[in-house]
Amino acid sequence: MRAIAGADIFLHAACAALVAFAIVVLATEALHAAWALLAVPAVALYAAAALHRPLRRRRLARRPFPAAWRDILSRDVSFYRRLDGEGRRRFERDVRIFLSEWTIEGVGGAAADDEARVLIAAAAAVLVHGRPDWELPRGRTVLVYPEGFDERFRFRPSGPLIGEVHGQGPVIISRRGLLDGWRGAGGAVNVAIHEFAHLLDMRAARADGVPAMLQLRSVGPWLDLMEREMERVRRGRSILDPYAAENEAEFFAVAVETFFARPRAMRDRHPELYGALARLFNQDPASSAGGKRGAT
Ligand SMILES: [Zn+2]
Repeated sequence: MRAIAGADIFLHAACAALVAFAIVVLATEALHAAWALLAVPAVALYAAAALHRPLRRRRLARRPFPAAWRDILSRDVSFYRRLDGEGRRRFERDVRIFLSEWTIEGVGGAAADDEARVLIAAAAAVLVHGRPDWELPRGRTVLVYPEGFDERFRFRPSGPLIGEVHGQGPVIISRRGLLDGWRGAGGAVNVAIHEFAHLLDMRAARADGVPAMLQLRSVGPWLDLMEREMERVRRGRSILDPYAAENEAEFFAVAVETFFARPRAMRDRHPELYGALARLFNQDPASSAGGKRGAT
């Protein structure tokens, strides 16, 4: 996550110039030329509004990262442990930005404490680490449930659900599932990465397994690859969780979880899928993974 993307700078400069031009034209044509001076405060107001978030992000990045948060990352997030100094600094900045722009609330007695907050933010930071221009939608809410829940959002310790994401509404994450995911108790399941992968997918209006960031020329080959890999899941010849065969959206989310949790296994058993995800995320977690449970 950048303070501001290069494309946004261009867009804002163009909008500010348009606003100034419109005011000058209106003043000279319909009012008095002196009114053209209004273009100055108008552009200043526009700049203040446009730069509010980038400046806040810069301020956040300059503040020291809390030692307690760093301890949580070092203890539970092997992806973070394997980064060099610059990588850790960028990862910490992304965690910080995420936590400043999302609301995280505990529900049903679940604690939305630093542990839960940092581990939720870490999932977002993992996904965008190789693509600093990517953004998850801002201003959203994560509801932390104690354990599992059912389709009617009733608390159920044994599930069947541990996470859910809504197009415009909150993301629900089970605290137990969250901790298990980062600490390896969930196998390749990492509920926070899974739900945020859905959000990346939903940038294309709805979750369909084809994230909007995929280049147009890659969409066809990706659809073909997805069909072949889903067939392997159905035949029991895949390392992906069988839930990946549910539909294309779940395939994408499960594949992303596995890419980060078991990168070497995915590279060995599904080299084409691994390569496609490595290009999409601009990351190669198999090359740096130390053990079976790769990058998470
Ligand atoms: Zn899902």
